[in-house]
This record gives sequence, C-alpha cells and structure tokens, in this order.
Amino acid sequence: MAVTRTFSIIKPDATRRNLTGGVTKMLEDAGLRVVASKRIQMTREQAEGFYAVHSERPFFNDLVTFMISGPVVVQVLEGEDAVLTNRTVMGATNPDNADEGTIRKTYAESIEANSVHGSDSDENAAIEIEYFFKPEEIVG
Ligand code: GDP
Repeated sequence: MAVTRTFSIIKPDATRRNLTGGVTKMLEDAGLRVVASKRIQMTREQAEGFYAVHSERPFFNDLVTFMISGPVVVQVLEGEDAVLTNRTVMGATNPDNADEGTIRKTYAESIEANSVHGSDSDENAAIEIEYFFKPEEIVG
C-alpha cells in the first residue's frame, strides 16, 4: 500500500452541531493526517460544479441547497490508501446502513445530511482537491 491523498468535506449538518473536531478526530484515529483544511461557505455555483456528476439525480437540487445551508470544512487527508481508508471510516451513504463506529453511524442525521463527503477514487480525489485547494495550501 502507498501513502496517497483524498478529499473530504465536513458537511453543514456537522459544522452546525459543532462536530468539526469530533469528525476530524475520527479521521485521525483511522490513520489519516489533515494536510490542508479550511472552513468555507460554498456558493451555489461552487456546489453545483462540485456535484455536477449528480446533476441528473432527483435529489440534486436538495443536495446543493443543503451543502450551501451553512459552512463546510474542506480538507485534504493523507494516509495509507487514503481513499479507501476514508470511505471505510465514513460508513455507508445512508446512516441506517452504516457500520457501528463509522462517522455516519455516529453523527449523520439522514441520507442527505450525512456529515461527511469523501472522494470515491484516486482520480476523483485529485480533481476534487484541485477544485478547492492551491498546491501551496497543502502542507504534508
Ligand atoms: P457518497 O459517495 O456516499 O457521499 O454518496 P453519493 O455519491 O451516492 O451521493 C452524494 C451525496 O448525495 C450523499 O453523500 C448525500 O449527501 C446525497 N444523497 C445520496 N443519496 C441521496 C438520496 O437518495 N436523497 C437525498 N436527499 N440525498 C442523497
């Protein structure tokens, strides 16, 4: 296994409940290192661009509206097989289906307000990191 990077978002339901630290601790305890982090308020255009792959799905508008409903924390995470490590600690999209001990089982409110985003491939991780961070903002 190699040390790789992935992209994470702590979503508005989590920042609203003051869970930035709680979520980040679970990421760190899973072996991931935060090598870039910033709290931002996404614009509708930014959120629509980020989720463009979902634009045909029935929940697209609701998802975008949710993602701009409050601040988010965007992060670059580094670790062994970071994409898979992060997806494992995140848990299933629907918290009802998520394993015990995962972030979504612990914190998510619903299938939409599910506390975290994580890239689903190395390729998408690179695209998503570049969408929010300049290279000099990432310090490993
Ligand atoms: P993820 O990779 O586990 O985040 O899941 P997806 O890529 O399938 O979906 C992206 C995000 O859209 C999820 O994290 C949820 O916030 C939201 N989402 C997914 N499925 C649904 C749904 O059926 N209804 C609603 N309202 N939101 C959904």
